[in-house]
Parts: sequence; C-alpha cells; structure tokens
Amino acid sequence: MNKGKVYLVGAGPGAKDLISLRGQAVLKQAEAVIYDYLVDREALECVNPQAKLICCDQFDSQGKVNSAMVKFAKEGKLVVRLKNGDPFIFGRACEEIEALLKNQIEFEVIPGITAAAAAACFSGIPLTSRKISSSVIFVSGHEAKGKKVAIDWRSIAKNDTIVLYMGVKNIHSLSQQLIRNGKPAHTAVAAVSQAGRITQRVIVSTLGKIEEAVKKNKIIAPAIFIIGEVARLHKRFDWVKKNKRILFTGLSAKRFFLKGNYFHLPMVKIVPLDSYAHFDRYLRKIHDFNWIAFTSRYSVQYFFQRLTQIGFDARELQGIKIAAIGASTAARLKDFGIIADLIPEVESSKGLFAAFKRIDLKDKRIFLPHSDISDKGVAHGLQKLGAEVVGYVAYKNVATLNLPELDLAEFDEVIFTSPSGVRNFFKHYARPPQGVCIKCIGEVTRLQAEKLGLL
Ligand code: SAH
Repeated sequence: MNKGKVYLVGAGPGAKDLISLRGQAVLKQAEAVIYDYLVDREALECVNPQAKLICCDQFDSQGKVNSAMVKFAKEGKLVVRLKNGDPFIFGRACEEIEALLKNQIEFEVIPGITAAAAAACFSGIPLTSRKISSSVIFVSGHEAKGKKVAIDWRSIAKNDTIVLYMGVKNIHSLSQQLIRNGKPAHTAVAAVSQAGRITQRVIVSTLGKIEEAVKKNKIIAPAIFIIGEVARLHKRFDWVKKNKRILFTGLSAKRFFLKGNYFHLPMVKIVPLDSYAHFDRYLRKIHDFNWIAFTSRYSVQYFFQRLTQIGFDARELQGIKIAAIGASTAARLKDFGIIADLIPEVESSKGLFAAFKRIDLKDKRIFLPHSDISDKGVAHGLQKLGAEVVGYVAYKNVATLNLPELDLAEFDEVIFTSPSGVRNFFKHYARPPQGVCIKCIGEVTRLQAEKLGLL
C-alpha cells in the first residue's frame, strides 16, 4: 500500500453547513483537495491555507482527475476528493475508486446530501408520502457513452416519484419518453435549480408543459426535476417562501436563527494582515500597557492568535485590565480564558466612553487592536479621557467579491451589521425595492444606510 490516503467526500448541495461533520473534519486536515466545480467555494473556507486546492475545471478528462488524486496520494498526502452532493450518486466514483485500487491507495467514502434530498427539502416536496407515493427512483438525464444497458423508461415510468438529475438540456426528449411510456402528461413536475442555495428557484408545472415552463422561467443547470404527484405539495409545504425571508449581510448569522429563514450573505470578509511584524512588537511589550480595549471579536481572535504565535499565552496579560465593547467580544475573550474587566451597558463606542468615564484614565496606556477600516473615533474618545492610546491594525476587513445575482424583491427584510457591509451591498445591489424592510444593527451602520438612501 502507498502511504497517502484519499477520502471521497460528499459536499452536499452547496451551502457550506450542509456537509457532514465527518466530511468537514477530514477537509480541515487535508493536504490536497480536488473539488468539483459545482462545490461552493464557501465549503472550502475551513481548508488549511497550506493545502493544495484544485478545481476539476482544470482537467479536461476524468483520467486527469484520477491521475492528480493518485499523484498526491503517492506523495503521502491526505487527499480529499470533494464531490458535489453524494459521491455515490451520479458522481463518477467508480472510475476514481478503480484508479485508487489499481494504484494500491487506501480510500474512504463519506456520504453527502444528494441533490434530490436537498431539492426535496428546500422546496417542501417530500419524495414519498404514505398516500401519494411509495416509490422513488433517481434517473440520470444524461447517459454515459458506451453504457451497456439503455434506460428502461417503461419501468421507470411506473414509479410514483421520479427524480431526474442532469436533465435541463434534454428535458424535451426526457419528458416525451416518460409520456410515451405511460406517465400521464398531467403528472405534476417541479424543477428546482440551485437547491439549498440563496439563489434557489422552484417552478411547478406538468410533464406535458415542463419544457415550456423551463424555457419561460429560464431554469438553468444545476437543476433537478421531481416528477410525480408529490410535486403538488410544494404549494402547501414551501416553508422557504412561507416564512419571513431575511437576508443577513453580517459576518455571523449564529445569533439570529429564531424566526424566519435567514439567508446568510456576508458583505465583508475578515482576513489577516500580510505581515504581523509590527503588531508583534507591541505584543512583546504588552506590559507597557495598563489596558487593552477590544472593539470586536475579531480583534480578540487575531490578538490571541499572534500572542500564541510568538510563544506567549494569556498569563502574559497578568495585571493588565481588559475592556470589551460588547457581549460577543466578551464571549470571545472567555474562549481564551479572559473575563473582561469592563463591558459597557450600551454596546457602542459611546457606551465604552461612558463606562471608562467612571475610571481614572489619566496617564494610563491603552492598547487598541482594530480593523484596517475602523474609524479613529474610539481612540480619540479615549484620549479625551486622558489616556494614551496606541491603536494598531490587527486584521483586514475586505468587501466580498463574486456576489450572486439576486432578486431582492424575494426578501422581506435585509439586515446590516456594519457600515462597510452597507457600502458593499449598495455598490453591488443598489437599493432594495419598496416593501423590503431594512434593519441596521448599531448607530454607525444606520447612519451609513441613511447616507446612501437605503432608509
Ligand atoms: N453527486 C451529485 C450529482 C452530480 S450530477 C449529487 O449527489 O447530488 C450533477 C447534477 O446534480 C446536476 O446536473 C443537477 O441535476 C444535480 N444538482 C447538483 N447540485 C444541485 C443543486 N444545488 N440544485 C439542483 N440540482 C443539483
């Protein structure tokens, strides 16, 4: 056996949190990742930055994908072959496994949510139902050249529910085949494109009219068809549309899962600096400071990452007082074993000044790690209270690129959490139509939204 190992991992339908925990665990450890072009780039965020990332787009044949996998494994690497949906459903896993066996490479397979399951759940169409459908079959609308046995459409048409993968291009001939083989033309059909993603679209028609409906509604791949009377349940069970639809543009949607459907589309991304040489110099002399004021959870994260990197831990901060601007910053500090000495009652820079006012800051030195775009307001405010403030950039806040095209009228509400998020949103999408409610978290965010005419 060769030293390396290949994991065939199902990435699910797209959204980064629809991969299995096991899949994500191996992804984090991978030294090389070869991913399908349909896999959302977000799913790759957890991959070690040192790992080699290769999109299958680059290869013009399955043979080349196999060779790349084999090559990395022979170098002794932990390789993840990240596949859209489930690896064993229309995923060309057979060819890949044969190549691994031939080269005596150990492999493992980790299942994923296949497009049929994702499309069914996110459109509110159960594939089976005790009264309407007790059988379901998955069919490929695109048959491999040289396949030994042709699809037996007569037997397929006998199933209550038929799920058609890779069928958009040939939907005319596929629907005709089914009608010719006994499926009534009035059978309900749902087409679900981009299942499970923010850009998902669902239409419901009938077998006789589906081609026309696909054209009219411009349904494009990747899309899947659910054929059978269950498709009529979409109207009643479409929880995605029935719930309030909220577009959350902040970084972490964790706190907002209670009511409505949250579509998480961060407008900004937090990235590390290219060099921390200067920042680290402050850390090495952190004892020169009386206070450290953290104004975001990211400043906490990067501060402690650097502290560890230069060989220190939280004990280095003994005797230094710590301020956190709000609850989430304070919570992040706890992850590093620190309970903040000062948390303002009101979560804002004004709140921070009010809290510091009760303390004598005269001649006290405050270290203020912040983002590259934070305003000077906090430093000035603290200086006014008599402190000497040393602010330094700890991380960068960059606008998200490649945002999807969206119909904003599809949302009931858009939530902003930062002025930079508002700016990037406006640049890309302009103003949402009337009727879409705009919510801003924090005073500065609201001011920015007002300035751009979003409110
Ligand atoms: N192994 C994958 C299927 C790969 S074949 C799985 O288990 O899902 C590619 C086909 O899958 C596409 O042509 C489309 O029919 C379907 N598909 C993949 N992702 C999809 C998505 N997000 N929404 C709808 N269909 C999808």
